[in-house]
Amino acid sequence: MWSSRLFWKLFASYTILNFLATITFVVIVSGWQKDQVVEQIKQRLHDSAALVRSDVVGILPNRPSKDLQGHISNLGQVINTRITLIAMDGSVVADSKQRTVSDVLQMENHKDRLELVQAAKIGRGSSQRVSPTLGQPMLYVAIRVGELTAPAGLVRTAVPMTTVLSEVAAVQRLIWLVAIVVSLAVVILTWFLAARVVRPVHALTTAAERIATGEYRQELFLNNRDELDGLAKSFNRMAKQLNIRETQLRESSRRLVTVLEGMFEGVIALDDREKVVLANAAAGRLLNFDPAEASGRPLLEVTRNRAIREVLALPTGEQTQHVEVELGDDQNRVVGVNAAVLSSEHATRWILVLHDVTELRRLESLRQEFVANVSHELKTPLSSIKAYAETLLNGALTDTENNRKFVTQIDEQAERLHELILDLLSIARIESGQQAFDIGAVRLCQTAKICIAANEAAAVSKEIDLVADGSPADLEVKADEEGLRQILNNLIDNAIKYSPISSTVNVLWHVENSTAVIQVSDTGQGIAPEFLPRVFERFFRVDKARSRALGGTGLGLSIVKHLAQSFGGSVNVCSQIGIGTVFTVRLPIAEA
Ligand code: ADP
Repeated sequence: MWSSRLFWKLFASYTILNFLATITFVVIVSGWQKDQVVEQIKQRLHDSAALVRSDVVGILPNRPSKDLQGHISNLGQVINTRITLIAMDGSVVADSKQRTVSDVLQMENHKDRLELVQAAKIGRGSSQRVSPTLGQPMLYVAIRVGELTAPAGLVRTAVPMTTVLSEVAAVQRLIWLVAIVVSLAVVILTWFLAARVVRPVHALTTAAERIATGEYRQELFLNNRDELDGLAKSFNRMAKQLNIRETQLRESSRRLVTVLEGMFEGVIALDDREKVVLANAAAGRLLNFDPAEASGRPLLEVTRNRAIREVLALPTGEQTQHVEVELGDDQNRVVGVNAAVLSSEHATRWILVLHDVTELRRLESLRQEFVANVSHELKTPLSSIKAYAETLLNGALTDTENNRKFVTQIDEQAERLHELILDLLSIARIESGQQAFDIGAVRLCQTAKICIAANEAAAVSKEIDLVADGSPADLEVKADEEGLRQILNNLIDNAIKYSPISSTVNVLWHVENSTAVIQVSDTGQGIAPEFLPRVFERFFRVDKARSRALGGTGLGLSIVKHLAQSFGGSVNVCSQIGIGTVFTVRLPIAEA
């Protein structure tokens, strides 16, 4: 309350008004009361003069006499009033303030005294002035003795003004006292009234301040039964509505944040000055910035990428723009940017939706490469077949020396085509997930032996020793038996193909971190380090001509990789030029 300006304003205004009203009242009443007192004294003086007149009427002499002077002196003392008897010529006949007749005779002629002139004319007169006889301010009242036509003299009564003023002052003191007491009472009343008016306003202000800080759960009860009570009720309703609105807003903004943060696509909202208003985590991940610190900063500063910024400079005729931006980072990522314009009368705002299309672009180029590779791989044997067939048709059929050789070539090329198509079908099936694997416990030792037997002939032809060994000997892996055979066959086949005559190819296995580790190693030519990361790619061959000559399709290791992954495992390679190569396949161990 003490700090309420409204309270002090109200209180001060009413108090000043109260004091002004009191002072005005006192001034008016005092003036009126003074007139009243003077009138009353005049009336009293008149009454006294009338009494004296009744006393002297008919006997009023023209000259002072001792008896009359004594009588008037006594009378003046009794009624505490100066009494003067004056003859019509202005000479004083008796005066209560004079002691002897000679004193009366020495008094000057009173003919010109105002009250006496009036009394002589109209029978009654009065005046306030300094008495030349007594030398002090006096109030005089005079009346005529006798009729206007036959005046016998004049009677004058007077009191000193000090007497009049002291009577006035006494009454005025009382007026001031009453006025001050009433005024103080009004001040106290004003205090309580101002407090009563200000209290609900204060309560409303406090409540409004609390609402501004987000405290909606409060109710105001003023119990005033007036407009302020109505205002409090409206205020309570408003607080409730605000609370509901804020809850809804919070909920929808929480939903928006959840949706944005759960989105795989990056979203950046920009204001009309291209400053970031909002950016989700995916946008931060894609463009390498911290979304929490992006708000309010220019897009260019946040993303440090001019190409993205230039999307905004595109003509805004279309409502959405799409560009693909190469980030130029170490991963060569490509980001697709969809920019939607939110134009209003005053400003243009943007929503950028970003998606990482690196993988899409990579797959696209892989597909193109694959199609080109397949066409090329098919073209070579087909061209050979066509050439041999044409040669035969053009007469070589009867060439007994060469016709058989040509037909053998056609058979070999057809076999190559067959192998290629089988590998392609196999890889296509594995990749599409259509190949149904019968995954179960497969005894590694047994499968390895089957594969070694299958490659035995090729190994023998190059005098290569094929060894299969490992511990535990009865280790079982979780895989599809046919698939595991394909893996081992491909690796053993490669090892034999790329090993020199009279070397050794080992198929070894052991357990590491609850995983079966199968290693197919040779002591062959090895693979140069720059080719190592690519050997599992489709159609990749270090030496194309040599691989073709050896009947390779360039798909073997790709099939191995996909199969191993399909069984929940992996494959990698270690190689040194001239020393040899080790392919390591990791597969989960079959549970007992
Ligand atoms: P290919 O049918 O040509 O053997 P792969 O996919 O099986 O196709 O192998 C891809 C390439 O990896 C081969 O062309 C070869 O250059 C290289 N390679 C595979 N295995 C070995 C190995 N054991 N020693 C040396 N090079 C190998």
